[in-house]
Amino acid sequence: MKVGQKYTIDKQAFLAVLDSLRKGAKLIGPTPGPDGDVVFREVASVAEFTFDYVNEFDPVKRFLIPHRQDLFRFTLGKRPTFEPLVDSSPQVLCGIRSCDVKGILHWDKFFSGTYLDNYYLEKRANTTIISVACNKPLDTCFCICCDGGPWLEAGFDLQLTDFGDRYLIHVGSKKGIAILEKIKKGLVAATQEDLQRRKELMAKCDSQMVPTAYVAKAIIQITNNRVREELWEEMGFECFSCGGCTHVCPVCTCYDVADYMESPTCGVRLRCWDSCQYSGFTREASGHNPREKTKERIKRRFYHKLSYAYVKLDGHQGCVGCGRCITVCEAIGLLDLPAVVKRLRREGQPEPEQLGAQRHSS
Ligand code: SF4
Ligand code: SF4
Repeated sequence: MKVGQKYTIDKQAFLAVLDSLRKGAKLIGPTPGPDGDVVFREVASVAEFTFDYVNEFDPVKRFLIPHRQDLFRFTLGKRPTFEPLVDSSPQVLCGIRSCDVKGILHWDKFFSGTYLDNYYLEKRANTTIISVACNKPLDTCFCICCDGGPWLEAGFDLQLTDFGDRYLIHVGSKKGIAILEKIKKGLVAATQEDLQRRKELMAKCDSQMVPTAYVAKAIIQITNNRVREELWEEMGFECFSCGGCTHVCPVCTCYDVADYMESPTCGVRLRCWDSCQYSGFTREASGHNPREKTKERIKRRFYHKLSYAYVKLDGHQGCVGCGRCITVCEAIGLLDLPAVVKRLRREGQPEPEQLGAQRHSS
């Protein structure tokens, strides 16, 4: 068996294999939520999974870097003590969508650059990703504009395509191979018909997606400083600084570090999710805040997501097209990524009347 190979298997047989993974790891996957939505959580059996969903509202990044993560416990005094709290317990993330897999790949790079973050890297090394390619997008999905899905060629351990009564399984890593090797019977190499069927499903999903984000054009506009300050100002007035967009974003990585004292002599150093959209995010110890105005924070967010300097540094733009910021943003339809991309696209473009005048004068 090799990475890149494709197999098919009866769904129930594969679910039985998934269930057996609970013996050595937490099994996490999609379950019915309280409001008819879907919530990823640890299950005691695969019977708790639901398969009737496109994506969860919260990004799965929380299983790798929790909202609050205790880093180490300390005691003060003549002989201070220090106890690291690394959680490297194994987990299997089942049923996550391609856009979230891409988000995790971004975190992998973020935490393994100049400074290696063992808290993240240990957890990641013990995480298995079994993703599901999307046969049907939500009307907010635009992953085809960001190379974030609906299918991927790499980044997962196993990628499933739903064929109704069977799964087509794409092998993505040695971890994926180890899972498939547990299957005693029923796993068969994908036939030409299977591969053709997969191609047709991919084409159908792509055709259902309305490509609303002209990301490449927005990158050009931002990189060439073609965006008027007045536009950032306008967006600053529209933003509530709630941080919702960054919290639901599978790509956003901002966090804060704090010491929480449990008594006068002992405490915990923790990190927790933060947002570059909060007014205190860049406040310095002196009280000086280089990005006090909302306009400056919005501008910074979109420079990080779309300027060429970051695209080059990260190898991709800071968006995977999951569409969650469309759903969460309180400035409805004004400040989510596709909306901003549309607004940036018009910058520096002659208005239609001006175009007409240019044509007549030439
Ligand atoms: S910017 Fe919005 S659409 Fe893009 S990855 Fe983040 S939440 Fe998803
Ligand atoms: S953005 Fe793409 S990969 Fe993510 S849920 Fe929607 S269709 Fe699937």
